[in-house]
Amino acid sequence: MSFAELGLTPELLRAVAEQGYTTPTPIQRQAIPAVLADRDVLAGAQTGTGKTAAFILPILQKLGAPPARAPRALVLTPTRELAAQIAESARCYGKYLDFRTLVVFGGVNIKQQILNLRGGCDLLIATPGRLLDLADQGVADLRAVRCLVLDEADRMLDMGFIPAIKRVLKLLPRERQNLMFSATYTAEVRELASRILRNPASIEVAAPNATAERVDHQVYRVAKDHKRHLLAHLIDAGNWHQVLVFTRTKHGANRLTKQLQSTGILATAIHGNKSQAARTKALHDFKTNKVTALVATEVAARGLDIKELPHVVNYDLPNVPENYIHRIGRTARAGGSGQAVSLVSPDEAPLLKDIEALLRRKLPVTALPVFKC
Ligand code: AMP
Repeated sequence: MSFAELGLTPELLRAVAEQGYTTPTPIQRQAIPAVLADRDVLAGAQTGTGKTAAFILPILQKLGAPPARAPRALVLTPTRELAAQIAESARCYGKYLDFRTLVVFGGVNIKQQILNLRGGCDLLIATPGRLLDLADQGVADLRAVRCLVLDEADRMLDMGFIPAIKRVLKLLPRERQNLMFSATYTAEVRELASRILRNPASIEVAAPNATAERVDHQVYRVAKDHKRHLLAHLIDAGNWHQVLVFTRTKHGANRLTKQLQSTGILATAIHGNKSQAARTKALHDFKTNKVTALVATEVAARGLDIKELPHVVNYDLPNVPENYIHRIGRTARAGGSGQAVSLVSPDEAPLLKDIEALLRRKLPVTALPVFKC
């Protein structure tokens, strides 16, 4: 998936390319089309996921014809650092468009900000308190705002900005688009969301989190038909005692289990077609080291209480990159590090690219060992 496929204009694509971004991050893939389609959005995403571009790019696209005296999009943020950073991103992504971005925050002299606002702007980025000061002085006219972004909503709530946000809301037109970003979903965040958002598109992405950092990632590029032989070799040669293997389908899990068994590896499958009793037994056998390999589908593995495994194998890569993080989370042990091995066939190369975009790094490719086919 490219930025062009998200429907962005050439001016924005050019600016994005100059930033060196090649692939949209998961939050960008989901949020950009939703914002362009005028939807309200509730997104669970932290800093580091690419969330700023996820809202700034479509907002710039939707601003319409410049120039304007009063801001048509307003971004509220908890801190001045974040406000400044968003403004910098907006100027950078909008460098081939004729829009004016202004940023206002507290803790600095208000006079210059008043002068700037009098000059007019299209996009205004602000901390709530200073924005209200400026509105009270009659220099921040918010009546033309068509899109409101609440960034880091949870932090704004923690910092006691709710009364200020409520006052800002009263200064905005009722008819507008609302986007809310929050790293966590506390009851307060949900309450605020239900008050502000109308039928929002709900977007949830995993953070490129600490778990992924601690894991030893290994990628083997291997033909599809050779995967089972390579896996058997890795288990045998590495003397692995406990390995969770992910396959895409139930059928695939059954087939691989039989194939591993035929090479003498103790393996069992766990997936949705198995009875609860069979699943419980499989898990028990795995945990008590009666079987070496537990072959699971994504969904079946989700509810399993198994963590701290030495090895997780992506026999098939997940279709959704976030699931890579969920899968390998099983192998992140406190202190020590686990190993996440991915067997990537040529047709899975785009999936690997998506995972690398999410993790923001290339995963090291390990040379294929010699193994029997
Ligand atoms: P954010 O989560 O918005 O704070 O963004 C985190 C960092 O990711 C920023 O330094 C961005 O420049 C960078 N970034 C945003 N989108 C992409 C992308 N599609 N590819 C690579 N880097 C990106």
